[in-house]
Amino acid sequence: MSTPKSGNALDALLGRMKAAASPLREALLEIHGQYAPVMDGVVASYIPELALADPNWFGLSVVTVDGQSVDVGDHQQTFTIQSVSKPLIFGLALEDQGREAVLAKVGVEPTGEAFNSIELDEVSNRPYNPMVNAGAIATADLVAGKDLPDRVKRMLAMFGRYVGHPVHVDNGVYMSERSTGHRNRAIGHLMLNFGMISDRVDDTLDLYFQQCSVLVTAHDLAMVGATLANGGVNPVTGERALRQEFVRDLLSVMYTCGMYDSAGQWVYEVGLPAKSGVGGGIVAVVPGKLGIGLFSPPLDSKGNSVRGVGACVELARRFGLHLFESGFTGPDIVGELNPRRARGSG
Ligand code: GLN
Repeated sequence: MSTPKSGNALDALLGRMKAAASPLREALLEIHGQYAPVMDGVVASYIPELALADPNWFGLSVVTVDGQSVDVGDHQQTFTIQSVSKPLIFGLALEDQGREAVLAKVGVEPTGEAFNSIELDEVSNRPYNPMVNAGAIATADLVAGKDLPDRVKRMLAMFGRYVGHPVHVDNGVYMSERSTGHRNRAIGHLMLNFGMISDRVDDTLDLYFQQCSVLVTAHDLAMVGATLANGGVNPVTGERALRQEFVRDLLSVMYTCGMYDSAGQWVYEVGLPAKSGVGGGIVAVVPGKLGIGLFSPPLDSKGNSVRGVGACVELARRFGLHLFESGFTGPDIVGELNPRRARGSG
């Protein structure tokens, strides 16, 4: 016979059982089960080290602005953040240099071109936006610091504030990209030629390769999303990752440019600011409510995770997350997690 539980332990157990059986967890498990068998897409191999990823990995996480989380599948599997780093570096550049100085070097227009296109605005010579490689390298150039190690340290500390723990660079992926990133080097030198970046171009490319090689999990990406949803403050640690005034800058470019050349399709179907990376990660933000982190390595032809996109489309549909959704009468995703915050209860 089991020993009777004390009131507190019993409450905790009941709480855990309730959490385990929450409708949101069930929905995430269902969506995971729906997309796990999808075998479309190809794991990125143009950075040789990325080809080592298991195509079956699939993790899904949601973190709310009051710090609750639901995680399913391979949510603890680490992978490299890749282009999901770009909006965060844009944020650091904004904090370091101010809006005017940053916008002098990078625009906010979607390109409709591939993420690694070698294209600058013909009139201003600016890269189109901070979410394509050219714009990301231009924003990395604006990250302050006395030398490369100092800039890398500041970059890692910033990521750490978003995810709520120290982060590290995957040296294998970093070295792999560093030795094969000729196209990114060409983009960097082209911008130097046009005076769009400073002459510390090799350091800046190194910083860019390292920012792309930071290791995260799907849960970490949901924390990044929740931090942006929460006005720049990590909802678990309470630490500010980004000045409030710049949150809208990041969310705007994520909304219009975050999913590369399928940004229009994404906005139409999901309607959330988001950013994907060739490691298979996606972060999506429901402002004021929650962050979603998705991870699965096989990519579609635009470089977005096939299962990640599918799962997000489904999540947005079931919970009416599209920002332009009106009159949605289905389940309230935040209320599902925390009945006190349910729709209409203030
Ligand atoms: N590090 C990658 C590159 O520059 C990032 C690209 C991506 O995730 N789309 O090619």
